[in-house]
Amino acid sequence: MHTRRNFIKIGSLGLGATAIAGGTMNWAVGSSSKKLSGGLKSAPILKKVSTYCEVCFWKCAGWAHVTTEGQIQKITGNADDPQCNGRLCPRGTGGVGMFSDPDRLKTPLIRITKNGEQTYREASWEEAFDFIAKKMKEIAEKDGPESMALFNHGSSGKYFTQLLNAYGSNNVTAPSFAQCRGPRDTGFELTFGESVSSPEVTDIRDTRCLVLIGSHIGENMHNGQVQEMSEAIDKGATIITVDPRLSTAASKSKYWLPIKPSTDLALLLSWIHVLIYNDLYNKEYVAKYAEGFNELKEHVRSFTPEWAYGITTIKPEVIRNTAREMANAAPATIIHPGRHTSWYGDDVQRSRAIAILNALLGSWGNRGGIFFKEGIKVPDFPHPAYPKPSWSWQDTLNGRYPLAKESITNTIIEASIPAEGNTHPIKGWIVSGTNLIVSIPLKEQLMKAMQSLELLVVVDTMPMEITGYADVVLPECTYLERYDDLRATPHREPTLVLRMPAVEPMYESKPAWWIAKQIGERLGLGAYFNFTDFKEVIDWQLKQLGLSLEEMERIGVKKYARKTPAYILPDSDHKFKTASGKIQLFSKELEEAGFDSMPKFTAHAQPEEGFYRLIYGRAPMHTFSRTANNRNLVALMPENAVWVNPQVAELWGLKKDQYVWLKNQDGVVSNFSVKVRVTERIRWDSVYIVHGFGHHHKPLTYAFGRGVNDTELITDVAIDPIMGGTGMRGNFVTFLKDEPKKEAKL
Ligand code: SF4
Repeated sequence: MHTRRNFIKIGSLGLGATAIAGGTMNWAVGSSSKKLSGGLKSAPILKKVSTYCEVCFWKCAGWAHVTTEGQIQKITGNADDPQCNGRLCPRGTGGVGMFSDPDRLKTPLIRITKNGEQTYREASWEEAFDFIAKKMKEIAEKDGPESMALFNHGSSGKYFTQLLNAYGSNNVTAPSFAQCRGPRDTGFELTFGESVSSPEVTDIRDTRCLVLIGSHIGENMHNGQVQEMSEAIDKGATIITVDPRLSTAASKSKYWLPIKPSTDLALLLSWIHVLIYNDLYNKEYVAKYAEGFNELKEHVRSFTPEWAYGITTIKPEVIRNTAREMANAAPATIIHPGRHTSWYGDDVQRSRAIAILNALLGSWGNRGGIFFKEGIKVPDFPHPAYPKPSWSWQDTLNGRYPLAKESITNTIIEASIPAEGNTHPIKGWIVSGTNLIVSIPLKEQLMKAMQSLELLVVVDTMPMEITGYADVVLPECTYLERYDDLRATPHREPTLVLRMPAVEPMYESKPAWWIAKQIGERLGLGAYFNFTDFKEVIDWQLKQLGLSLEEMERIGVKKYARKTPAYILPDSDHKFKTASGKIQLFSKELEEAGFDSMPKFTAHAQPEEGFYRLIYGRAPMHTFSRTANNRNLVALMPENAVWVNPQVAELWGLKKDQYVWLKNQDGVVSNFSVKVRVTERIRWDSVYIVHGFGHHHKPLTYAFGRGVNDTELITDVAIDPIMGGTGMRGNFVTFLKDEPKKEAKL
C-alpha cells in the first residue's frame, strides 16, 4: 500500500542555490514598484527583448528592458500588439517580481523519509528525472500509460501535454474549464456552434451598449477589454451592469442593477420576454439566421418583468428600460458572456440565455457585437504520430456530463481515488502551473486522491501549497527566462508574438519544454522532442511562415491583414457552425441529451439568518493566487478585505478595518482573519472578497497569512449536469469576532 503522503513545507530547502545566485545579483524591479523598493539605481539599458506576459492568459506582448549589468530593469508593452496597444496592466508591469522573487523554487526536490519524518532533499535534475521516469514506466507497465494525468495552466502545459500524448495518455485537464469558462463555452457552442474564445471575440471597441452580468471588467483586468470598454464609454456607449456589488464597472454604468444573487437567469428570461413581446428583437436577423423562435416565444410568455421583479428585486420598469437600451443600440450590443461562469450548477443554461439574447439582438457577426476571429496557423514541429490511448478522460465521466467537450478536473481527481467499480484508475499526476489546493473545490476528494497516487510531480516557479504534496518538485524558470511557443491566438487581427529569454534562468530552474523533453527521452520518447533547444523549433516554424527569427527578435510582434471578413457581409448567406447552420434558440442537442431545450429559472438556496452569500472576484493587481507573493504587487494590494453592507456591520457591531474570521454553512472556519470593509457598495445579503489570498504555506513569505482564501469556504458545490462545471456561489458565511484558535492548515 502507498505510504501516506504528508504535507512538507519547502521553506529551508534550496538555500545553497539562493546563496550562490542571490549573492551575485541585484535584481531590479518593475517600474511600478521602484519607489517601494527604494529606487534601485540601474545601469544603462543594453537591449530590449521580446516577450509576452504570463501573469494572466491575455498574454500581452512586451519588451523586457535589460541593462548592461544583465538586470531586467522593467517590462513595457509592445505598441504593435493589438491585445495591449503598448500598455501593460499593473500586473504585467510588476511581472518582474515573479522573476526576482527570493522565495522561488531553486532546485529539484525529492520526497524522502528521514528519522521517521517525511521531508525533501535537494536533488540534481538527473536524479529527479530518473525517479520520475522509473515511476512512469512502472505505472505504464502495471496499469497502462492512460493512468497518468496532467493538470495544467498557462504556456507550459503544452509541453507536458505533448509528453503525456507521446507516453499514451490524453488525460489532460485544466481547472480553466470546469471551474471557469466551461459553462459559457458550452452554452455558446450549443447556440452558435462555437464559443467566444479566449481572449473573447467581443467587439467592445465599437459597441454602443455593453451589458455585464457578474463580470467586473476593470477589476478583472484583461487588458484589451478594459481599454476597449474605456474607449466605448468615451464614445458614448451605454453600460448596464448586473451585480450585487457596485463594482468599478457598475460605477461607470448608466444602469446598475443590484440583483439578488442567484437569480440572474430570471432577469435574462425577462429581458428575452420584453424583446420578443415588445417587438424589440432583430426580426430580419432572427428570421434569416435562427431557428426555434416560435418555441422560444411560447416558452418566455409568462416571464414578464413583474414575474422577474419578485425573484430578482429589479423593478419592472428598469427591466423594460434596459431591454429598450439594448434594442436601440443593436446590433452593436453585447451581452457579455463573462469568464468565471461556474456559479450555481445551472450555468450552461444561464450562458444559453445570454447567447440567446445576443442572437435576438443580432450581435454575433455584426460590428459592435461579436466579431469573427482570425489567426495565423503555426505549423507543428514534426514528430511521430501519438499512440492511441485505450481509454481517456471521457471514460472518467461514467455517463455523466454528456456535453463536456473538455476534461473535467474533478472526474480525473475522482478517478484517482481507489474504489470498487473504478475501472479507469489514475495512478500518477503531473501538475504544471496550477495550485490545485487553492483552485479546486471539493478539497476532501482532492486530498484523498493525492494520498492515493503512486506519483505526484509538481512543476512550478513558486513553492505554492500543491508543492508540499509532491513526490518530486521541479523548479521551472519564469517566462522572462525562456523561449516558448509563438503566441498566435486568433482574434480581431491575426498576430504572431515572440517570447525569448531576457536573461539566463536563475538558480537551477529550467524551462518546461526542456523538462518535458528530458523526461520524454528517459521514457524512450525522444523522437517526439527532436530538437536540442526550443529556439530551433521557433526558427523552423518562422521559416515555414516566410519569416526569420532575427526579424521577430527585432519587431516582437508581426501583424497580418485579415483574409476573411470580421463581420457578416450584407446579403451573404452566412452559416453558423451548428449542425443546421442556424443559431439554435431551441436546442435539439440539449433535448436529445435529456436536458431543457430552452433555459428555465430554478430557485437556489438562500442564506439562513446570520449568514451572507459569499461572492468572490478579482482585483486589478493580482491574478488568482499566483501573484500573492509578488513583492511588486503585494506592495499595491497586500491582502483582501471582506466587503460588508453598513446595515450588516451595525447588526454585528463590526467596524472598518476590524479583523474577523469567516465561518461557512458547514462550520468551516477560515484559516486566517480578514479586514472588514464597511461599504454601501454591497447588498445586505452578500459579502465579497477578492480571490487568491489566504495562503497557508509559510515558504510563500509575503503571501502567508494575508487575508482569507475563498476556496476553503466553498464546501457546497453544485455540479452542472450538462458539462460538469462546479458551481461555487452557493456558499454562505457568518462572522467570528474572536480568534477561533485554529492552526493554519488546509
Ligand atoms: S492583462 Fe496584464 S497580466 Fe494579463 S497579460 Fe496583459 S499585462 Fe499581463
